[in-house]
Amino acid sequence: MSEKLVLLARAKINLTLDVLGKRPDGYHQVEMVMQNISLADTIILEKTPGDVSISCSHPEVPENEDNLAYRAAMALKLVESYAGGVKIHIDKRIPVAAGLAGGSSNAAAVLIGLNRLWSLGLSREHLMHIGSTLGSDVPFCILGGTALARGRGEEITPLKAVPELTLVLVKPPFGVSTAQVYGNFRQEKVANRPDTRAMLQAIEAGDSAAIIRLGANVLESVTLELHPQVAEIKDRLTQAGAKGVLMSGSGPAVFGFVEDENQGREVAGRLADLGSTYVAKTC
Ligand code: ATP
Repeated sequence: MSEKLVLLARAKINLTLDVLGKRPDGYHQVEMVMQNISLADTIILEKTPGDVSISCSHPEVPENEDNLAYRAAMALKLVESYAGGVKIHIDKRIPVAAGLAGGSSNAAAVLIGLNRLWSLGLSREHLMHIGSTLGSDVPFCILGGTALARGRGEEITPLKAVPELTLVLVKPPFGVSTAQVYGNFRQEKVANRPDTRAMLQAIEAGDSAAIIRLGANVLESVTLELHPQVAEIKDRLTQAGAKGVLMSGSGPAVFGFVEDENQGREVAGRLADLGSTYVAKTC
């Protein structure tokens, strides 16, 4: 077994996001269709004799025990009573605090990578269970592809892969706290609720037009009010010709679908004054 592994940690978008209610434990009960996209961080893992250490190319990401990737390694070390260590480096391309599960995807890649590097032989289900103790989006990030997430977001049902779709992502120059968005969520303020069943049928049928048309995210009712710039990004993306324009997760990243990479680059260029822009594909 090699002493070093390089992995991709892919971002996700939400094709749908619904909040069904609040649970006795204080978490919101959600129902979301999650989709991996090609925008990814690179994670480098190097086996070491002793401790877990972490570094990251992005100045806003903690290089200590607050880093979700570090916590993933420590959780695995503890659960498996593993004596060795790992040096983790994150080359960050996924925008931070954007609603794209950047931290969760890093934690998922570390769990998958260390399972190999440390020769632990754990099943994917076991890794997903350990991942669920780190964050609600981690199990999906371990499975990847297209999936329905329920409960806190950690109960995952794999779905048929969607046809390849090209999208433009826009991330304004500020982050959003997921906890704050959920804390301000009020059912009565939701104007546009997803029809999750119809979305599942569209995915089963491989109907790209319906998948794009049926996207909806109830957390827009919170984030668009806290940050009117997100509404402006949605308007500008729509005016520029993107379809199915939607906020991802708790935001503030917004995506919209385009015909191909050429149109993607053109639309991204027209929105560059609003923040960082990316052209990506579903995968
Ligand atoms: P989600 O969509 O799962 O809510 P997000 O994309 O909105 O997540 P992250 O990019 O995961 O948000 O970052 C949220 C916070 O987590 C950041 O403010 C950052 O300080 C912290 N963080 C800890 N570890 C990481 C990591 N490996 N990558 C990015 N952020 C991390």
